[in-house]
Amino acid sequence: MSKDNPGQEGRFKLAVKKRDVVCQVCFKADNLEVHHIVTRNNKFLKYDMNNGILLCADHHVYSPVFSAHRTVRLFLDWFENRYPERWEYLQRHKNKVFHKELEVQKVNKK
Ligand SMILES: [Zn+2]
Repeated sequence: MSKDNPGQEGRFKLAVKKRDVVCQVCFKADNLEVHHIVTRNNKFLKYDMNNGILLCADHHVYSPVFSAHRTVRLFLDWFENRYPERWEYLQRHKNKVFHKELEVQKVNKK
C-alpha cells in the first residue's frame, strides 16, 4: 500500500478529471469536483481510480434531488447500474477496511 503524500491526492484528482472530463450525471463541464464512492477514510481505495468519479458541485453535494452526499442511496444505486464492474470491484475491496456507512446503505436497500 502506498504512503500518503501531498502530491498523491492531487495526482489522483487530476487523473479522474482527465478520464471523466465532465460531470458523469449531467455532463456539465464547470464546477467539477472529484467524489470518492467509498469514503476516503478507506486507505486502500483512497487513490484507486475505480473509486473516483467526477461530478459537478450540484451532483456532488448540493442537489436535494440527486447528489452523492445528500441522496446517498439513490446515488449508489445509480452508480451500481452505470458501472457494475467498478461497483463489484469496490464491494470486493472495501472490506479490506470496513466501511460502516456503505454497509448501512446496502441493508436499507433490502
Ligand atoms: Zn452534474
